[in-house]
Amino acid sequence: MTQRKILSIYLVLSTIRRSYFDDIPSDLDVGQVLTFVGGILRLSTKYLIRSFRQRCITLLSSKFPTTFCDYVAKSSRDPPEKYDSDSVMRAAVLAQENNVPEILPYAYYCIARMSSRRLLQQRTYDISWKDKAVCLIGKEKLRWAEMSLSYSFLLVFQRAPTCDSYLCADARGPHAEWHVVDTAKSPNPLRKYTTWSRLNVCNACMGHCQVLHQKGREEVWERLPEMFELGSWDQLQKQQSMTEGSPKVKSQPNRHSFPL
Ligand SMILES: [Zn+2]
Repeated sequence: MTQRKILSIYLVLSTIRRSYFDDIPSDLDVGQVLTFVGGILRLSTKYLIRSFRQRCITLLSSKFPTTFCDYVAKSSRDPPEKYDSDSVMRAAVLAQENNVPEILPYAYYCIARMSSRRLLQQRTYDISWKDKAVCLIGKEKLRWAEMSLSYSFLLVFQRAPTCDSYLCADARGPHAEWHVVDTAKSPNPLRKYTTWSRLNVCNACMGHCQVLHQKGREEVWERLPEMFELGSWDQLQKQQSMTEGSPKVKSQPNRHSFPL
């Protein structure tokens, strides 16, 4: 690829910049975002056109958050946004093929929560069988995370150190609520618990549980990449930024599926 050809592509991209990025509606669903960014991301990654690549990544990240704060903001939207399984699969494949690994932990989280029936189908734009296996194993890790980190306050209820109500020691609310969480079809350890009144414990205990829940959710987020064999958030960030230098660099095969 000559410099002249790259310049031509840059000029073509520049002419469509306004229509493609500056006037994008804010309420696009995942499928529409993928349609918007797919081609531009591939071109800008291949020909190292950083500004366009970054705009595509920003749009993808609005659907597949890369920080806990962004996840909280996204999940607080009312009504909650529904993601169809085909679009999530397409997003993961797009990220794998264009070195955008930072969006993979949340994409894999969504895939891990899909039904086994859906995962056993292999549609055109699905992730590989190997990556599906990683997601299925990740699903078990999400169950563990729910039980041990973000929802442990229900399973193993602990009174607040400042609690002076003997009723809290025998409260049945936490365990009953754990049963509701545990019988859900898919684990969802990042989800915020909201039905605090059902615990039937004093305010001190409720506040104590809220702190434990929040810390647990943050830890789940921190550990999300490793649950899907993706390393750490820092590693993903470094790997993604390598494309700013050269997408063509050949390196040792890495244990993950996305290219360097
Ligand atoms: Zn109490």
